[in-house]
Amino acid sequence: MARVALVTGGTRGIGAAISRSLKEAGYRVAANYAGNDEAANLFKDQTGIPVFKFDVSDAAACENGIKAVVDQLGPVDVLVNNAGITRDGMFHRMTFDQWSQVMRTNLDSMFTCTRPVIEGMRERGFGRIILISSVNGQKGQLGQANYSAAKAGVVGFAKSLALENANKGITVNVIAPGYIATEMVQAVPEEVLKTKILPLIPVGRLGEADEVARAVVFLAHDNAGFITGSTLTANGGQYMV
Ligand code: NDP
Repeated sequence: MARVALVTGGTRGIGAAISRSLKEAGYRVAANYAGNDEAANLFKDQTGIPVFKFDVSDAAACENGIKAVVDQLGPVDVLVNNAGITRDGMFHRMTFDQWSQVMRTNLDSMFTCTRPVIEGMRERGFGRIILISSVNGQKGQLGQANYSAAKAGVVGFAKSLALENANKGITVNVIAPGYIATEMVQAVPEEVLKTKILPLIPVGRLGEADEVARAVVFLAHDNAGFITGSTLTANGGQYMV
């Protein structure tokens, strides 16, 4: 039986590319989203991938949402915690609401989405947990104290979870993308992109969502069992760790 993969924020941007690539690789995929029904239904019609609406920052909603995934597709073997948001602003002007929205969606979601699947993975002796961080969690970024803090927190979470589950057939790895051409980045004014962002990327272009998706497929593979607790950068050479 094909393995089951759940991709949070799996209906748009990087997540949609991950969902598609995992499906092409033979997984039975569930794509989660928050509220954009139009995008989710279009994605479902185009790909045939079932979509599940629940807010990753809400623990009870995740428990129910993931139960619905398991009821429809079976236990989750591969979890991709991809859903994320930005609420940018210089810290001296940042509101607590901007801070906590990002913390809840980008960091609390590590708990809310992983906790419901981890015990089953341990019992079955197999799991792949792949967390989408960001280059800005590694190097910091003006106007993103909230986002950088949450994305750096993801890395610490991954390392502890990797240690706790290493002898249970479960790997936990992080992918830290640089600038990828999705709506999140396309919202940046073209002039800023040309003069401020592209010059920072040695490869000389934005990344493609498919390039992140292929890294997810690699880490999800049954044969990737010796890779755990690692952070794979996909940033065109912008930042090397
Ligand atoms: P998009 O904004 O294009 O897509 C975000 C997806 O996440 C959507 O499916 C959205 O659902 C979903 N989502 C947002 N909030 C929630 C929530 N509370 N609960 C459930 N789903 C939610 O994002 P990207 O593809 O650009 O980013 C994906 C990930 O990659 C994020 O974690 C981001 O931080 C990270 N990243 C992105 C980079 C980039 O250059 N784009 C660079 C580095 C990291 P809905 O459609 O319903 O809103």
